[in-house]
Formats: sequence, C-alpha cells, structure tokens
Amino acid sequence: MKKTMLAAMFYQPLDLRVEEVPVPEVEPGGILLKIGAATTCGTDVKIYNRGYPELPVLPMPFGHECAGIVAAVGQGVTNVQEGERIVAGIASPCGKCYWCNRSQPELCVDRTYAIPGGAIAGGAFAEYLSIPGEIVRNNLHRIPENLSFAEAALIEPLGCALYGIEMLPEIRTGDTVVINGDGPLGLFFLCLAKLRGAFVVICGSTDSRLQKAKKLRADQIINIRKIDDQIQAVYDLIGNPGPDVVIEATGVPAVWELSVNMARRGGAVMLFGGCKGGTKVTFDTQKIHYDCLTIKSPSVYLQTPDLLERSLKLLASGGVPGREFITHSYPLEQVVQALEDHKQKKGLKMEILPPDFWSDD
Ligand SMILES: [Zn+2]
Ligand SMILES: [Zn+2]
Repeated sequence: MKKTMLAAMFYQPLDLRVEEVPVPEVEPGGILLKIGAATTCGTDVKIYNRGYPELPVLPMPFGHECAGIVAAVGQGVTNVQEGERIVAGIASPCGKCYWCNRSQPELCVDRTYAIPGGAIAGGAFAEYLSIPGEIVRNNLHRIPENLSFAEAALIEPLGCALYGIEMLPEIRTGDTVVINGDGPLGLFFLCLAKLRGAFVVICGSTDSRLQKAKKLRADQIINIRKIDDQIQAVYDLIGNPGPDVVIEATGVPAVWELSVNMARRGGAVMLFGGCKGGTKVTFDTQKIHYDCLTIKSPSVYLQTPDLLERSLKLLASGGVPGREFITHSYPLEQVVQALEDHKQKKGLKMEILPPDFWSDD
C-alpha cells in the first residue's frame, strides 16, 4: 500500500492545489476506498469560487461525488470485502433524533459524514478516501456491473432530484411540467418527470444543454436568451391553463419568483435550487392564495440509503442514462481546469480520474 497519494486541497477561494498528501488511515469498522472516478458538481464550483460560511480547517480535501474499489477494510468489517466496487452515501442519519424518529431522516441533525467537515468539505478529488464505520454499516452500495465509477458517483445529485420529485405527487401521467434550469439537476428532473409520464418543457440558456435535453426526451425546449418574456413563451407553447407543475432548478432568486408566477391556477411549484445566503424574494400573495398554489422547497444534502439505492437502480436500468450526463474527462491533476470548464457550462458533469484510472486515449 502506498503511503502518500495525490489529492486536491482547497486553501482558499480560487486556490486549489493538487499535491502529495498522506493516504488516510482506515478506521476500525471503516474502509479505505480507492477512488475510480469523481464528478464535479455546482456546489464544488461555488465553494472553489467564493468559499463557504463554515469551512473546516484549511487546507481541506475537496470534491464530494465519487465511487471506487474497496482497498482495505478496518477491524470488524464484515459486510464488504476488499476489491468490491462500491459507492457510499456522503452521510448517514443517526436514527435517534426527532427527525429520524419522525421518518424524516434526510433532515437528521446528528449525521455522520463520509468526509470530515461535512457535505461541504471534500475528499473525492483524490486517490483514496477513508469512509467511517457508520457509513460502511448504513449507506454503502455495490455498483452494478454495467455502470462505470463516474456513473455510480451520480447517485449523489440524482438522489437529490429523486427526493425532490417524490415531494411532487401532483405530477400525474400526461401532466405538463415546466423545468426552469438546464443544468445537471434540471436534466435529472427531466428524466424523472418523463418516467412519470409527463409532457416536459425545459427552459434554459445553453444551447448544448438544451440539445442534450432533447436527447433525453424533452417534449419542448425554450432558449430563454432568444425570447423576451419567459412566462409568455411557455404559455404560447403549451396554451392555457398553463403548466400543472413548475420546477425551479437554478438557485437564482428571480427564477424563484418567475416559477411561482408561471404555474397554472391550482398548480404546484417546487423551488429546488438553493439561493445565496441572505437572499430575499417577493411573491404576489394574490397569486399564491387565490390561485391556490402548492409551493414546496426541499433542501436535501443527506440522501437516505433507500434514495441512493434506488438512484443506483435507475442508473443501472437506463431509466436515467448517466453516461449522457458525463460529458468530459480530466486527469486528477487538471481538476482546476475541470471546475473552470464546469463553471463555463462547457458540459454537464466532468469526470475526474486518478492516475491509475486515467489513460490518454
Ligand atoms: Zn453534488
Ligand atoms: Zn437523526
């Protein structure tokens, strides 16, 4: 076993260095994961660019979506063996707090993280990751043979979308769903809404992503850069009474407001994209009250083992074609470039490969 490894370390915004660091220790009950691939996420890009209110001690390891092979098992581990291909949840609910007891484990306030420092810290952009016993026991998933490591790593963002869509029993077969946002989450929602039999309109601003949306069976796409009034454009396209369900997947306050104003009378709106801290939005009380809108705004960054297991099945069955979401590959040494390209919306998800898994062809 190697003593040191390559890992991306975050020093401060815009200062992320790939350097040699010690390979993490295997805890009793835990495992050491040899990372096969990691994927970039909008959250990584945000932290890389502007930091985060409560960061652990810096420099900190970086990246939170990955999958790999079990390289070593700690004392007492019996449910997984060296050499198995696995993907872990980034956290495990405690099973004891008020929320866990109320069957809302995704809101658990005493979670154990795979990555020290929590969901915002990292460790996925590295060669190895130590996973604590709590997660090994509760939130470890074997990767089906037909999925690559990068595809398996997608259970983290897909689990968020799955959680969101399950908060929308309002979507019925044949309903019209408008999704505001053409990023990875918007397109995951597209796949999930299609599986529910909906007619789906995607509003976005990036041509390549809108073309991808078409490939993923969007019924209509609207490039918001080419129109003046987005609500009018949607109504021109689908007619009255308007969308049954509107999903906001951008995290932009103006799009939150627009999404509420877009819904039909009696419709449902999901405000999914998290906005910057301290942001305020303005809603028309008349619209919300007299139009009888249902508004939901789930925040999820702890996916339960059940959500992740089902996300993995959705990827394995092709219900959500993960490979369509992984548009570019980079060696670990070029992770900064990958984050820059992600920010420029060059693709959807960038795959980051450690040296043992990278080949030039
Ligand atoms: Zn993510
Ligand atoms: Zn709990």
